[in-house]
Amino acid sequence: MKNPAPMSSLSLEGVRKVYDNGFVAVPGLDLEVADGELVVLVGPSGCGKSTTLRMIAGLESITDGRLSIGGRVVNDVPPKDRDIAMVFQSYALYPHMSVFENLAFALKLRKTPKAEIARRVTRAAEILQLGAVLDRRPRQLSGGQRQRVALGRAIVREPQLFLFDEPLSNLDAKLRVEMRREILRLHRRLGATSVYVTHDQTEAMTLGDRIVVMRDGVVQQADTPLNVYARPANRFVAGFIGSPAMNFLPGRVEGALFRSEAGNVTVPLPDAAVRRLGGAGAVVAGIRPEDVGLEDGGEVARGPAGAEFVVDVVEPMGGESHVYARAGEHEVVARTASRALPRPGQPVRLSFPAERLHFFDASTGATLCNPGGDPRG
Ligand code: ATP
Repeated sequence: MKNPAPMSSLSLEGVRKVYDNGFVAVPGLDLEVADGELVVLVGPSGCGKSTTLRMIAGLESITDGRLSIGGRVVNDVPPKDRDIAMVFQSYALYPHMSVFENLAFALKLRKTPKAEIARRVTRAAEILQLGAVLDRRPRQLSGGQRQRVALGRAIVREPQLFLFDEPLSNLDAKLRVEMRREILRLHRRLGATSVYVTHDQTEAMTLGDRIVVMRDGVVQQADTPLNVYARPANRFVAGFIGSPAMNFLPGRVEGALFRSEAGNVTVPLPDAAVRRLGGAGAVVAGIRPEDVGLEDGGEVARGPAGAEFVVDVVEPMGGESHVYARAGEHEVVARTASRALPRPGQPVRLSFPAERLHFFDASTGATLCNPGGDPRG
């Protein structure tokens, strides 16, 4: 079933937030969220994602710029008239009310007719599989059920726009993964326009139709999760998205060769990369852990002749392992599915296939080229 609202796009044009103390939390943000899209704002603590969400919700005033929901400018519209529903980190259910009453509460306040309340609550309960617990009090529910009631309270409003503010961060790891899947299913079912804030890049990658990576109030990149992963716009994004994080090797491009600073990694570059990097001089090369070739039984898995490293830490994860290795200043992590794992202290050869390298400007961090000599974007 589609969201009943005909058009519920969201548009931020030059939206700016300066707090009373003069602090510029968001210097000027442009963002379009299409009808039915789930966009995740992600970034480290203090990057301005909550401020942005709160401005969308109307809980924080907008210093400058224009905010529209469903084509209507809402800068000065109070939160209750914006046709939004918000799900917070703390689900703050009313302890003395049943699940049904918790779900119905906001509708009652709005003097929604009884039959309509029953219809909406029944539908939300069905979607969230809460039908069997409608008579229970919150304390008689599991953490996951409580979080579902919190989602249900948003669903019954049938809003134009769903806003999620780190809704899963209070849950334990297993429940978080389950609820993440639940939110995805819910989104697929309702097709509701949603903005979701998190500092957790895994949550962002798995949930977002698009993710918007923010830093110091500024959008660094807005794209599909896989595009952001494959073609990060700068070193910050490259390091923030992906776990374990991308490896960075400072060095220089000399003709058709990349040479790492510590001198143990040299990679002949493909023509496309040489063309993009010509005369770049000081650069930082980046490589994803899964692209690092790891010696396996004396053979380097892929790429050119490996460089000597010494294994520092090995983290077996079950299906894969993370091998952290050092060479002088360089620390590199390789992700491998191999069962033949090296031991800490053991020398190992790592290779850095040229066609998997990203290059960033050493001073600005801007992407010079992504794998295959692709320009960014
Ligand atoms: P977190 O994940 O920690 O909530 P965030 O990315 O959501 O971080 P915001 O809460 O939006 O970040 O804060 C952005 C910046 O604005 C931070 O530097 C914060 O200290 C500052 N800030 C937030 N609220 C206020 C306020 N009321 N007055 C002044 N500065 C504020």
